[in-house]
Amino acid sequence: MGYPATARTTCPYCGVGCGVTVGVAPDGVKLSGDTLHPANFGRLCSKGSALGDTLDHEGRLLYPLVDGQRTSWDEALGQVARGFNKVIAEHGPDAVAFYVSGQILTEDYYVANKLMKGFIGSANIDTNSRLCMSTAVAAHKRAFGADAVPVCYEDIEEADLVVLVGSNYAWAHPVLYQRLAAAKKARPEMQVVVVDPRRTATCDIADLHLAIAPGADAYLFNGLLHYLRREDALDLPYVEAHVEGFAAAFAAARAVSSIPKVAQACGVPETQVSEFFRLYARTPRTVTIFSQGINQSSSGVDKANAIINVHLATGRIGRPGMGPFSVTGQPNAMGGREVGGLANQLAAHLDFSDAESINLVARFWNTSRIAQAPGLKAVDMFQAIAEGKIKAVWIMGTNPVVSLPDADKVRAALLGCELVVVSDCVQHTDTTACADILLPAMGWGEKDGTVTNSERRISRQRTLLPAAGEARADWWIITQVAQRMGYSEAFPYTRPAQIFREHARLSGFENRGERAFDISGLAELDDAGYDALQPVQWPVNSMSPDGTTRLFTDGRFFTPNGKARMVAVAPRLPAIATDADFPLVLNTGRIRDQWHTMTRTGKVPRLNAHLCEPFVQIHATDAQHQQLQDGELARLTSRHGTMLARVQVSEDQRPGSVFVPMHWNDAFAKSARVDALVAPITDPISGQPESKHAPVRVEPYRPAWQGFVLSRTRLDLADASYRACTLGSGYWRHEIAGEVLPDVWRDWVQAAAGNIGAPARLVDARQPGGHPSANWIEYRDAAMGRYRAACLQDGKLEVVFFIAPDQRLPEREWLGSLFAQPQLAAADLAGLLSARPPKGAVSDTGRIVCACNSVGEKTILHAIKAQGLQSIEAVGQCLKAGTGCGSCVPEIRRLLESAKK
Ligand code: SF4
Repeated sequence: MGYPATARTTCPYCGVGCGVTVGVAPDGVKLSGDTLHPANFGRLCSKGSALGDTLDHEGRLLYPLVDGQRTSWDEALGQVARGFNKVIAEHGPDAVAFYVSGQILTEDYYVANKLMKGFIGSANIDTNSRLCMSTAVAAHKRAFGADAVPVCYEDIEEADLVVLVGSNYAWAHPVLYQRLAAAKKARPEMQVVVVDPRRTATCDIADLHLAIAPGADAYLFNGLLHYLRREDALDLPYVEAHVEGFAAAFAAARAVSSIPKVAQACGVPETQVSEFFRLYARTPRTVTIFSQGINQSSSGVDKANAIINVHLATGRIGRPGMGPFSVTGQPNAMGGREVGGLANQLAAHLDFSDAESINLVARFWNTSRIAQAPGLKAVDMFQAIAEGKIKAVWIMGTNPVVSLPDADKVRAALLGCELVVVSDCVQHTDTTACADILLPAMGWGEKDGTVTNSERRISRQRTLLPAAGEARADWWIITQVAQRMGYSEAFPYTRPAQIFREHARLSGFENRGERAFDISGLAELDDAGYDALQPVQWPVNSMSPDGTTRLFTDGRFFTPNGKARMVAVAPRLPAIATDADFPLVLNTGRIRDQWHTMTRTGKVPRLNAHLCEPFVQIHATDAQHQQLQDGELARLTSRHGTMLARVQVSEDQRPGSVFVPMHWNDAFAKSARVDALVAPITDPISGQPESKHAPVRVEPYRPAWQGFVLSRTRLDLADASYRACTLGSGYWRHEIAGEVLPDVWRDWVQAAAGNIGAPARLVDARQPGGHPSANWIEYRDAAMGRYRAACLQDGKLEVVFFIAPDQRLPEREWLGSLFAQPQLAAADLAGLLSARPPKGAVSDTGRIVCACNSVGEKTILHAIKAQGLQSIEAVGQCLKAGTGCGSCVPEIRRLLESAKK
């Protein structure tokens, strides 16, 4: 097949779903934001801008492997089909499971769901979107009768009040944040309120930040409902005409309704609660955005409904600039919802609640084997694997050994499972390490299909490049297995357009307007039409052939009587409280420049340079109480597991709470999987885990030595008790620590040199077998426990070690920059082991703040002070920092503020 010189496609990271224009030229890929795409109009964030740097084949799974041995596709597919059929024949269909991902495309999802629910006859297919937005799905269905997001992105810009609840929008949905920030700049009277226990980068544009106690959201919104009634700020005619359940919801809200009581329950000052309530009461055009802070909770569905209740009671829905808005984490979480990727859904927004829905899908698929009841949700599914009830599992495009709660148990479950199949584009992940059969899947830029973003907009991901090795599309892999399992007639697919048409036809099949998800208007697209498909928001049908910007404009909902439902919410605190052994609340979340388990973003040095180690952010009061110092290592322990992380003392953290990013895993660190600490507690309705509230203790971890190694190739350094490695520009950075001092430093260094893969090349020329051009220099101070060494080959720096008794070590930036030199200059060599750059050299830029232009924190601070810079614009003019994607603007503003102190 030929590949286009330029193509319009969609970013594969977050649920904003930005359009990307890619030009493929002999000298590489040129990538920019698609100016015509309505999600981003040309903007991209730091991660999206760096997509071009993730396309190499390093680390890719290139061909099928069975028990670690390369094999043919035919053999691997045959083994998967035979393995699943054998388990089904011996133990029934519920003894097998699929665990899929919001990263795969809608066409992949559709075929996987059809195979499991329609033909294997079990509903044991769930998705990692369970961890991200299944709570919002359940809340939408309770309130609207359908999993339908009412709003569009323009509503955020048109609102006069935007309330962000449990959402670090600036880092998790950066382009939407940029759109919001631009709207606020254009209309400064627009008000932004952030409700979040943590002061995040999103607070940069907030007029009010309510740092509520973790889990207290429902108290706040119940109190708001009550306040609005008292202030006569409800839209009672709208409620009368379009809503039911008001009386019960209002009665439930009464329990904690006065401002002092709400303030007490939320742990914030009464003045802040009053200010928020007054603002809400007087501002009709309100959008309330919520994401993981609401969803990842054992009472998340109730919290989401408490938010939706207020919008229904005020009639602030279905009109420009108004509505509750759940933003999804992943690029195709919505697509998965559309096809039934969740174990409790069927397909095309149907579910198992009535026999007629099951019958409808069975007739459409022409199957007599369709599942009759919901399957196991993610946490329960892995529990069933641990108990041996599920004996064969196929994991597609996700890394549950890192991302599921109680992650150590998940790993043990997979290691004990009879048959584990993993299809992925990456060879070495914590999950692929547990697989019996590995199937290479195409990655972004290779695959072809559709995704749906947070505002119901379907966009195309298009093929730009040939597949790596023998990688195949997920839909193709599933289709081939289905055929080998005996279902050839139902799985005839040879291209994604075929699958999309079938999916679109099913959405309209016997749909007389009762089902929100309807893209029957796209069911007759021919292949060329599918290729050319422009971004469009569903529903797309005969009534709305060009798509639908906003839902519920006529006040009709997808419930039997057409009325929306308010839900009586009795607020509950998180399932497990802190206690004397585990006194702090662990909150997990994303950082700005990494995506999920770093398999792609971890390939980009400028993204790694923002935050390059697993860290625990803790308030100064708690740090003092636990005798923790900024920059040292800490051990976090819960009832489920333990991890190590670097301490970051910060006033942004609410006392009593700590924050740890979710990204690090065994591929990049040792003992840094935060989900090993999270209890497998879930919301009883949605099954979404409580990933924002794990009681932990945090103690100093003071090993015998600490250090870092910068090396041209990646080292294993397995003996270190702590290890975090990231790719820099031309070198790998390894942060290490150990509990036992090596007897002979040189032995240790040589062992590491062996890890480089060419010991003979690097071992001291004075040693037998040493390469004559390899030259080790070293410095040791046994009394002080310091050791420093470097190896050069033909004058080029190969590796540099710095070991000390604690974390007080030199900065890494200048040392790292030396790897770009073909030969070290004499002045650089002179300062190498003292880490002192020659006069005039750019010595230490600090951690990277602006990833687009690689500008470090210290460089910015120095320029602010030396040149008296006063504004974001001035910093941009001076250093270009903040002039790219804009994701770093909140951090630059913080630096400007800190310089004033
Ligand atoms: Fe990709 Fe960033 Fe857009 Fe999300 S905001 S879709 S990560 S470019």
